[in-house]
Amino acid sequence: MNDLEFRQQILDTKSASFCAAKWYNATIWLGSGQSTSCHHPPAHAIDLESIKTRPSAIHNTVQKKMDRLAMQNGNRPRGCEYCWKIEDMGRDAVSDRVYKSKIYPIEALDAAFQLDHREDVNLRTLEIAFDRTCQFACSYCNPAFSSTWVKDIKQNGPYTNLISDGRNHFTHTHDSSQLYRYGETNPYVDAFFAWWESDLHRTLQELRITGGEPLMSAETWKLLEWFKTNQGKSSTRLAINSNLGAEVDLDRLLSASAGVELDLYTSMESVGQQAEYIRDGLNYSAWVMNMIRLMESKQLRGLHVMCTINALCLDTLPDLLTVFMRWKHEYGRDFPNFTLNILRFPSFQSALVLPDEIRTHHRHQLESWLDKWGQAPMIQEHERRHVERLIDYLDVVKTPHSEAFDMPRLHNDFHEFYRQYDQRRNKQFDRTFPYLKKWYNDLQIQ
Ligand code: SF4
Repeated sequence: MNDLEFRQQILDTKSASFCAAKWYNATIWLGSGQSTSCHHPPAHAIDLESIKTRPSAIHNTVQKKMDRLAMQNGNRPRGCEYCWKIEDMGRDAVSDRVYKSKIYPIEALDAAFQLDHREDVNLRTLEIAFDRTCQFACSYCNPAFSSTWVKDIKQNGPYTNLISDGRNHFTHTHDSSQLYRYGETNPYVDAFFAWWESDLHRTLQELRITGGEPLMSAETWKLLEWFKTNQGKSSTRLAINSNLGAEVDLDRLLSASAGVELDLYTSMESVGQQAEYIRDGLNYSAWVMNMIRLMESKQLRGLHVMCTINALCLDTLPDLLTVFMRWKHEYGRDFPNFTLNILRFPSFQSALVLPDEIRTHHRHQLESWLDKWGQAPMIQEHERRHVERLIDYLDVVKTPHSEAFDMPRLHNDFHEFYRQYDQRRNKQFDRTFPYLKKWYNDLQIQ
């Protein structure tokens, strides 16, 4: 059954808006006490009173129960706008509600659809963040997800003159993202562990811990300890996101996860000093050493690199992809595997702000890379498709996303942001990206 048939025969026969993610999937930020059914709808607050007696209320919120009822009746929850927009493009459009639903058995979809919307549901897939502690402050991140970004804003004040960032990512410390201080009791974290102990470890198929940097969070180690001492008790697949910076304690990770089936996800999209510019706090050589150490340990179930495709990574992205191919040759097809994820926010850091001739140059570089490696036995189908998709993207898509089509504003912000980033982080844009120097300096006088 293809995706469209799945939508028409499995989802739409229940209702025109049914999506199983409302029942079985969640992203939960325990630092801010917020929950959402997938990464598209805006997160909403978890009720503190409810979780005192019903820890699963970190997922089964009143908001989600009302959304479930709406879906059972064929009405569209407003927060799911992302999917409705895609479906309204045409009768055959396939939105994420298909991909987020088809990962579950048909019987589970039937059960969700028939369940009284007031009932609580146990999750099957969950992404969770304990807090925002992180030693990096990457250019495309912001204080909501990094304590080092918070320090920048506290010490140097807000970034100024940014006119395309309607969400004000870089102007304040996002205190609502971290309601409790380090070491303080966080009732949302307590509720998660209470639910985990009572039910969740039995029903959850996949648990992914994100951050901040999760390996700097005491709760991540507590959970790893649970997996180690309760082997065989849970079949939940555990995954951790980590920046694999020099400060990450790999000895401790390898010891704490011995005997635990673990997938590790890390981020990188360029090499050397360009990588260190984009991902402030990174020591690229240390990241390489940590990757090699993990691959040599043969302890992980999978090692995945998520490449966040932004304006500054394209020059050395092919070099990084070549490094991955060499590693695959040495350590096997999955070590590592990679995905190319196109950055949408902040839009002024999108690759599409680059002038046509530079974008075309990068496209040609990627085409050459694909000519060389596209048929290599070690490349995976999805990896080849991601490179092809990026080549197409650099060719045909002219605006970062629909709300941000005003290129002069994006260019203003590109220059303003990196000018201030250089001062605050002791970096030099024109030395790090000499091929962009003239274009970058000209932006100032536009
Ligand atoms: S309908 Fe779309 S936006 Fe809403 S939960 Fe499902 S996948 Fe997410």
